[in-house]
Amino acid sequence: MDKIIITIDGWSSCGKSTLAKQLARELHYVYIDSGAMYRAITLHFLRNHVDWTNPEAVEHALGEIRLEFMTNHKNGQTEMWLNGENVEYVIRDLVIAEKVSEVAAIRAVREFAVSRQQEMGRKKGIVMDGRDIGTVVFPHAELKIFMTADEDVRVQRRFRELYEKNPNVTLEEVKHNLSMRDYIDSHREVSPLRKAEDAIVLDNSHVTMKEQLDIAKKWVKEILG
Ligand code: C5P
Repeated sequence: MDKIIITIDGWSSCGKSTLAKQLARELHYVYIDSGAMYRAITLHFLRNHVDWTNPEAVEHALGEIRLEFMTNHKNGQTEMWLNGENVEYVIRDLVIAEKVSEVAAIRAVREFAVSRQQEMGRKKGIVMDGRDIGTVVFPHAELKIFMTADEDVRVQRRFRELYEKNPNVTLEEVKHNLSMRDYIDSHREVSPLRKAEDAIVLDNSHVTMKEQLDIAKKWVKEILG
């Protein structure tokens, strides 16, 4: 077997994207941040005052959206582009995080994003992180990882990340946002966040980045032989 699909799902701010990026770099695979797609869709809806409780307005707005992942040659990172604009930075804002789970719970939005994600995985050699990647997007993926970490650890990590961009952000706000997103993501009707039966759990509360990469690389090696 030469190339496989690796899915990484889990709660908000567990370090899924860190591990996914590290693995993709090591294996020379493509890394896809599926959450960035839901964030970019939310940005488009907010900017255009789309009433997402109205299915027709959602259909119309989705028809106007073009999403692309492009590599930034300065840092080698994959970045999210929305209708020809690099939105990688702006979609990380708390304003987007406050609405994204509501938008991501809409069936039409998920169908739009999932069909694009499946297309990107057609040739395998991909690491994709999200909430429903191992359960819905690639149910036959060769390696499925489900990440988790203690809530306090996750809040601290996300707080540090957001604080660098905006020193006005508070720990309380971040904590509230994470628990709200986790609640909506795991209770929605369409593709709720849950561990795929054949996913391996990785709790990284007390594990360094190097250790988690070594663990995941061992799993890949076991599959590739
Ligand atoms: O991964 P990230 O935290 O950037 O994802 C933002 C939000 O997008 C999640 O809280 C969730 O509501 C939604 N999402 C999703 N399915 C995915 C990836 C993200 O519903 N596969």
